[in-house]
Amino acid sequence: MTNQIPGQTPGQIPGLHVDGVSRPGSGTAASLLDPATGAVTSVVAQGSPDDVRTAVDAAAAAFPAWSARTAGERARMLLRLADLLEADAEALTALEVAETGKPVPVFRDGELPFGADNLRFFAGAARSLEGTGAGVLSEGFTSMLVRRPLGVVAGIAPWNFPLVMAIWKVGPALAAGNTMVLKPAPQTPSTTLRLAELAAQAGLPPGVLNVVTGGADVGQALVADPRVAMVSVTGSPGAGRAVMESASSATKRVHLELGGKAPALVFADADLPVAAGALAMASTYNSGQDCTAATRVYVERTVADELARLLAERMAAVTWGDPHDPATDIGPLVSVEHRDRVHGFVTRAVEAGAEVLTGGEVPAGPGGYYPPTLLRGAAQDAEIVQQEVFGPVLVLSGFDSEDEAVALANDSAYGLASSVWTGDVGKALRVAHRIEAGVTWVNDHLPIASEAPHGGVKGSGFGKDMSHEAVLEYTVTQHVMLKHAARDAHDSFRPA
Ligand code: NAD
Repeated sequence: MTNQIPGQTPGQIPGLHVDGVSRPGSGTAASLLDPATGAVTSVVAQGSPDDVRTAVDAAAAAFPAWSARTAGERARMLLRLADLLEADAEALTALEVAETGKPVPVFRDGELPFGADNLRFFAGAARSLEGTGAGVLSEGFTSMLVRRPLGVVAGIAPWNFPLVMAIWKVGPALAAGNTMVLKPAPQTPSTTLRLAELAAQAGLPPGVLNVVTGGADVGQALVADPRVAMVSVTGSPGAGRAVMESASSATKRVHLELGGKAPALVFADADLPVAAGALAMASTYNSGQDCTAATRVYVERTVADELARLLAERMAAVTWGDPHDPATDIGPLVSVEHRDRVHGFVTRAVEAGAEVLTGGEVPAGPGGYYPPTLLRGAAQDAEIVQQEVFGPVLVLSGFDSEDEAVALANDSAYGLASSVWTGDVGKALRVAHRIEAGVTWVNDHLPIASEAPHGGVKGSGFGKDMSHEAVLEYTVTQHVMLKHAARDAHDSFRPA
C-alpha cells in the first residue's frame, strides 16, 4: 500500500480517496514543502469542488447500509483500523514528519499511539450509545428516545496534528453510524489519505470514509452540498466563522474547534521550578502550534522575577532542530512563511515595549525554525497578548490578587485551555470555577485523555472532541411515540 498513484513517479500523491479507491484529484496540483528544508518533497494531485460532489455521492450511497450495521460491527472495524495504524507506524511517521516537521518520537511514540487509543475509545463508545429513556410519558403512549446518526458529515481539519485531528472527526462520526467526507489541510494531506486506505483494509465499506484534498474552495463546496448534514471544522476562528456563515443558509449543524490563547496563572505558593519546566514544555510542544499551548503566563508579582529566571532557563534548554535527530525536542514551524508570521508578532511586541528574555531571533539557514521565545512586559491589550501566535512564544505578566488573575485570564476572545499553579487546593478550585475555558489543569498544562471532552467556549468555538460527548455531537435524538391505547383526538397537549 502506498500513497503514490500506480504508474506515477515517486513523490506524487493521489489527492483523493473516494468510494474505497485512491486516485488523483481533478484540482490544481500543489507542491508540498519539507518544513525543515524548504525543499519540495512531493506533488499532490489535489481535489476540486467537482470531486466533492463525487465524494458526497459515495458517502450518501454508503450511509443507509453503514448506519444499519450493528454497533458491534462498526466497533470491530474501528478496532481493526487502530491495529493497522500501529502496524503502519513507520510509514505514517515518515509522511507526517515530512509534512509537519515534528520530531520523529513526538509522532511515532506519542501522537500515533494516542490516535489509536482514540479510535479504540470510539469503538467502545459506539456500543454504549443509548437513548436517554423509554416509558409512558403521555397517557396511552409508549415513548422511546433513540439516538440516530445524521447522515453525511463533512470534516475539515488543520495542519498542526493532521492524523490525530482526522481521527477526532472520523472516530465519533463513524462510530455513531454516519459516513464522512474529510478534507485535510492543504499542507498536510498524506497521513489522512493513508488513514482512508487503512480504513479500507480494515473492512470499512467503500464510501464510508472519503478524503478530498484542497483548500478553502473545496471546504466551501463541502459546506454548500445540500446532502451534507453537518460540518465539523478544526481551524482558525476565520475559517470557523466562514463555515458557520455558509452553513446557516442551509440550517446545517456545525461543530467548531477553533483557536486558543491559553493562560497559566502561577501563584506564589506554587512549586516554581516544576511550573517553569512544565510551562516551557507546554508553550513549545509541537513548536507552539497547538490550540491548547500555554501562551500567557500571569504570575503573582512577589515571585515574578524568580519565575522569569526559571522560565527563561528552561525555555532556552528546549532543543530545536532536525526532526530526525533523537535529541530534538521541537522541529521547525510548518513553513518559512508561518515562521515569518510568528517572528512578525514578536518584532511588533518588542517595538511596543516588551523585553525578550530568551529567543526572539530568526536563526540562519533553511527551514522554518524559530527558537523558544519568552517575552515580558507586554501590555494586556497588546497584539501579542490578545492574538493567537501559533509559535513557541510565551508572554509573562504579573498580578497582585486572585481577582486580578482571573480577570486577566478571562480578558481574551478565546476560551479553550487554561492552568492554575498553586499549593492550595481551595484556591485551585475557586480559580478553576471562575475561568472561562473548556479545560483547566491544576499544576500541569496540556495532558489530554480519550475519555475527556475537548473543546472551547467564546471565540474558541463549541462542540466537543473525544469522549462520549463527541459521539453524541454526531447524533440526533429521535422521539418515537407508539400509541398503545385509544384516546381522544383533541387531547394531544394534555400535560402528564
Ligand atoms: P485554517 O483555518 O487556515 O485551516 C483549517 C482548515 O479549514 C483547513 O483544512 C483549511 O483548508 C480550511 N478552511 C480555511 N478556510 C476555509 C473556508 N473559508 N471554508 C472552508 N474551509 C476552510 O487553520 P490552520 O492554520 O490549518 O490551523 C491552525 C488553527 O487551528 C489555529 O487557529 C488552531 O488554534 C486551530 N486548532 C484548533 C484546535 C481545537 O481543538 N480547538 C485544534 C487544532 C488546531
